[in-house]
Amino acid sequence: MEWKAIGPTKGTPRHIGALLASTDPYKLDLACAKIIGLEKENVTTLEAAYKRGLIPSDYTKLTYNEIIENYFISDYKNIPIHSGILFDSKPPLIKKMISKSLQSTPLVEKSKCISCKKCFETCPAKAITMKNNKPVIDRKKCISCFCCQEFCPAGAIKSKRPFIAKLLN
Ligand code: SF4
Ligand code: SF4
Repeated sequence: MEWKAIGPTKGTPRHIGALLASTDPYKLDLACAKIIGLEKENVTTLEAAYKRGLIPSDYTKLTYNEIIENYFISDYKNIPIHSGILFDSKPPLIKKMISKSLQSTPLVEKSKCISCKKCFETCPAKAITMKNNKPVIDRKKCISCFCCQEFCPAGAIKSKRPFIAKLLN
């Protein structure tokens, strides 16, 4: 079977020998995150789900927690986590400034672009316009969701990490 990489950075697929499904997408996400070494605190959507009472505090409270343990991947390569810096007690303005200075942004490699317009069509924030058949990103509108990178068939959109974020790693 051929494994296709999905997700913003088209990472390297890992065969873990498991097919995961659930009637509850939030609990399934909690299980999947644990398998690749992430806690709910590391995933914004899981933290929000916990606050809304949609998931338990950790995977051990899930029905099939023993099965999940069989699939833990100790050396899974995750993106850097800066959540420790963004603790809730900071004033919102400072938190926003720190978040902005650590946030990756999409960057178009025009030489690779085949002018298919997929990024332009899929951008949820309408931050992309086509100029001379090449995408131009409006930084003020961009929400750094990386849908453009995910859908680009030519791998022409890269993730640009700010200097300060690189330094912290
Ligand atoms: S990262 Fe998201 S919001 Fe920004 S340009 Fe790409 S698709 Fe649009
Ligand atoms: S999706 Fe990729 S190849 Fe298509 S227009 Fe956008 S950057 Fe160019």
